[in-house]
Amino acid sequence: MPKQVQLNLSPTAAADEKAVLKISGTLTMLAPSDISSIRVIKRSVDARKKNIRINLTVDVFSGNETPPLLNPYVPTDVSRQKEVIIVGAGPAGLFAALRLIELGIRPVIIERGRDVSSRKKDIAKISREQVVDPDSNYCFGEGGAGTYSDGKLYTRSKKKGDNSRVLELLCLHGANENILYEAHPHLGTDKLPGIISGIRKTILDAGGIFLLEKKVSDLIIEGDKVKGVVTIGNEIFTSPYVILATGHSARDIYEICTRHNVTLEMKSFAVGVRVEHPQDLIDQIQYHGNPRGEYLPAASYNLVRQIEGRGVYSFCMCPGGFIVPSATSQEEIVVNGMSPSGRNSPYANSGIVVEIRPEDLQKYSGYKELAGIEFQKYLEREAWKNGGHSQRAPAQRLADFVAGTASGSLPEVSYFPGVTSSPLHSWLPGTIGRKLRGGFRLFGSLMKGYLTNEAVVVAVESRTSSPVRIPRDPITLEHVKITGLYPCGEGSGYAGGIVSSAVDGMRAAEAIAAKIKSA
Ligand SMILES: Cc1cc2nc3c(=O)[nH]c(=O)nc-3n(C[C@H](O)[C@H](O)[C@H](O)COP(=O)(O)OP(=O)(O)OC[C@H]3O[C@@H](n4cnc5c(N)ncnc54)[C@H](O)[C@@H]3O)c2cc1C
Repeated sequence: MPKQVQLNLSPTAAADEKAVLKISGTLTMLAPSDISSIRVIKRSVDARKKNIRINLTVDVFSGNETPPLLNPYVPTDVSRQKEVIIVGAGPAGLFAALRLIELGIRPVIIERGRDVSSRKKDIAKISREQVVDPDSNYCFGEGGAGTYSDGKLYTRSKKKGDNSRVLELLCLHGANENILYEAHPHLGTDKLPGIISGIRKTILDAGGIFLLEKKVSDLIIEGDKVKGVVTIGNEIFTSPYVILATGHSARDIYEICTRHNVTLEMKSFAVGVRVEHPQDLIDQIQYHGNPRGEYLPAASYNLVRQIEGRGVYSFCMCPGGFIVPSATSQEEIVVNGMSPSGRNSPYANSGIVVEIRPEDLQKYSGYKELAGIEFQKYLEREAWKNGGHSQRAPAQRLADFVAGTASGSLPEVSYFPGVTSSPLHSWLPGTIGRKLRGGFRLFGSLMKGYLTNEAVVVAVESRTSSPVRIPRDPITLEHVKITGLYPCGEGSGYAGGIVSSAVDGMRAAEAIAAKIKSA
């Protein structure tokens, strides 16, 4: 058994392996020559006070002891086994496939978008030519919205075992092992495509099927049972088990469900803007004026307050990152954020969003369970019109937005397609604009210097989570009405973010394996 020590070090000492080894030896009363190795199992930055410290939990091994290896992934040959259809190759779909293979079942992945490298070119076109391919963009394509995302891997979900398995599987496919111990693990958008192609190879090598550029255009439902799916071009795929892992932006899938009377429900979600500050300013605020130096990460923040009975909070904060165009069709603007693994851009951006509850959407009640989507569409189209009918996004300086004054000029921003100065305060729905302004005022009092005209707000951040839930049985995970249909991941309304969607995919795979076994 290793001995465990807790260290509280300066950033410089924490980055020095020899210093960590020496202090660990002193605390465990082991001579350096007796220590065979040390392994950091938890690391976090404590920047609450001016004297910034790094907390480390370290396992110290001595004698013949060695740190445990990652639990291996043991695929079986599934090429002749029962088939399960998985619609969507995002984190939920991919991890469902990996788990099905471990359980001896053949996954048939059907994905509308293109492979990671072709997708990169389509994404570049959004910025360069202002053209959005409705099947290959920041949300759609191999790896789903997770591929060209920020790759932050922390989750509020408490299922620690499952979360760790997702992180392990990412490491087995090329992720840096520091994600296993960092308090706020982060992959970075530059690392994700390689990991995703590695996962595709694992699935194919085990005999799974991985089909790209095939959009599912219908579900085959007979009575109350799913029998398979139809893709554009009328190709039919049959199986009594269909995992629906299509993410929160697959609006056509919700429409297909409505057509087949597959029960859907409205759920709360959030919309708002993305705010961007110079990273140096956020570092100064969060590190109390200390220089960041080479051993501290680009500083981040996490803000939440209640305004008029609704949560207003920061969402997907990306230190050292970029604001990216995440629309899935041409005449809409959707912004989101991501950063490379080095988090080294000069900008810090974050969504600042307002909680929307079903009862807030009375005006859209004619659309019933799809009211949230109609509201998102309305905001995205308004942003498109106010940005100049292209992927240029409407933007305003932060203090001007809060004061209700138009911005005569805008500073440089990270958003590649460009921004147009627009009085967001005058066209965002009144209740949302008011709550956002109230939130920014409070955030400005919590972080001195945050509420400044050096910062810019860019609209519109509308796809934080799914506004729709596809209800399922809490134990079997099957749809409440349709046997064999397994809604999962972010689009099901039961998960949000890379890790929880991946965990949800694995759980769907396990539920299907249990059902097949008991049949
Ligand atoms: C820019 C950006 C940054 C993000 N940053 C982070 C982050 O740092 N950390 C984090 O945890 N989360 C982040 N997210 C969110 C995260 O990516 C999602 O929560 C996660 O990918 C959801 O996984 P999923 O598998 O449920 O759905 P998705 O990843 O959305 O995947 C769904 C897949 O289904 C496919 N599909 C849809 N319709 C069809 C159809 N009709 N036929 C066939 N295929 C279809 C889509 O093409 C897509 O590939 C970010 C998202 C974006 C856009």
